[in-house]
Amino acid sequence: MSDQSNTYSSTATGNRSILPDDMISVQEARRLILEKFSPLDSVSIPITEALNQVTTEDVVAQFDIPPYSNTGMDGYAVIAKDTKNASYSDPKKLSVTGYLPAGKIFNDTVMPGQAVRIMTGAPIPNGADAIVPFEETDEYLEKDSTKKTEKNEVLINVEAITGANIRPAGEDITKGTVVFNKGTILGPAQIAVLASLGLNNINVHRRPIVAVLSTGDELLYPGESYADGKIYDSNSSGLAAQIINFGGVPKILNIARDNVKSLTHLIREGVESADFLITSAGVSRGDFDLVKAVLAKEGHIGFWTVKMKPGKPLAFGTFTKESGAQVPHLGLPGNPVSAMLTFELFGRPAIFKMLGKINAWPRPLVNAISKDRIVNTDGRRFYARVVIEEENEIPKVILTGKQSSGILTSMSKATAFAICPSDTSGIEAGQMCEVILIDRENNYYGESTLTEKKGY
Ligand code: AMP
Ligand code: MG
Repeated sequence: MSDQSNTYSSTATGNRSILPDDMISVQEARRLILEKFSPLDSVSIPITEALNQVTTEDVVAQFDIPPYSNTGMDGYAVIAKDTKNASYSDPKKLSVTGYLPAGKIFNDTVMPGQAVRIMTGAPIPNGADAIVPFEETDEYLEKDSTKKTEKNEVLINVEAITGANIRPAGEDITKGTVVFNKGTILGPAQIAVLASLGLNNINVHRRPIVAVLSTGDELLYPGESYADGKIYDSNSSGLAAQIINFGGVPKILNIARDNVKSLTHLIREGVESADFLITSAGVSRGDFDLVKAVLAKEGHIGFWTVKMKPGKPLAFGTFTKESGAQVPHLGLPGNPVSAMLTFELFGRPAIFKMLGKINAWPRPLVNAISKDRIVNTDGRRFYARVVIEEENEIPKVILTGKQSSGILTSMSKATAFAICPSDTSGIEAGQMCEVILIDRENNYYGESTLTEKKGY
């Protein structure tokens, strides 16, 4: 980091009494990280691949939607005047001069006393100014074989109002309107609108390629046969899945071993091939925590101690590609839960910013009562892995299991993080606490409502 005030070599042990003064807060770390990211360049992609991406230009309608006035019902196109005073006891008889399915045009004009049998979506024939649905004609009764007229005649049982059941041209969108402003996040409905405008491609910020580099001599590739003293690399897979979830494209690199040559080689590969480099492990104070040294030599890097748990320590900086382009790097802790939590808190906003979703990354934050006692002894803000479940119609925060930073299964059960503030000894059972929802659909608090506050 060029700003030396953000650079800190941690000597903290996690003991409250010797926390260094320059430990930075989660918010401050996030702010410093986000400063180094910008929305990526614009690319034209098929609309069917653009879900959750952000437009880089205004979308202007080139024609009306619907493009022509059409019927919203199956029935008869009529002249409303011809149906005046029609009733079941005194229906009006019209002669049927045409049949018009959707996709066809009626080349004649409907004259007084005439009607055209018409299907939903078909253009309104010239001369007609109302649609009488089958339900209001004798055809409705045809199913009961009681149609009272010949095929070329129809009885109208209800008086039609001018314009009835007609969807006018431009009812939805008029030609020349800005349908979506630049910066619109494309959800399913927005994509459907683009298709209705006849567009098959759209300009959006491209998705970031995020290189993922696990480091450690102890790591095996999942699928490799087990060997004593080793563990399987879970960070690459977990982080890659988070990257996909957040909208990025992961590029999993080979595992770097704890030597300068291997690390340097793979870091360079990541830098050259990605927009953002994520490493895990090797940034603490162990004998083989070489990532630090390599980072310091190859790039501009800051080592911070963020006042959070799990998640200490964290490295952040930038590398330069051969082309001169800057590639931000986030060095995550090695412990699997720490890696995922820090990536949730710091990597997610960065990916969102690259996608052009500058303000869309905060997660819902709610207040809920904790059922469990959540202990926090070491002065840092603690993010506890929890679920929210309803108990006697009250949503309760429940721990998902052991909370040390290697316990991945409690992470796998969690749908939320309860925040223990740094200046407390934890959250007592029955106490209200703040909770970040990371998987909103899977929190089971039934009909109860939790008031959402500003996001986190
Ligand atoms: P380190 O930061 O290298 O000291 O690693 C901290 C802890 O995280 C150690 O127990 C490592 O074995 C573990 N660890 C590091 N990288 C990974 C990984 N990719 N997958 C699973 N555990 C890891
Ligand atoms: Mg290690």
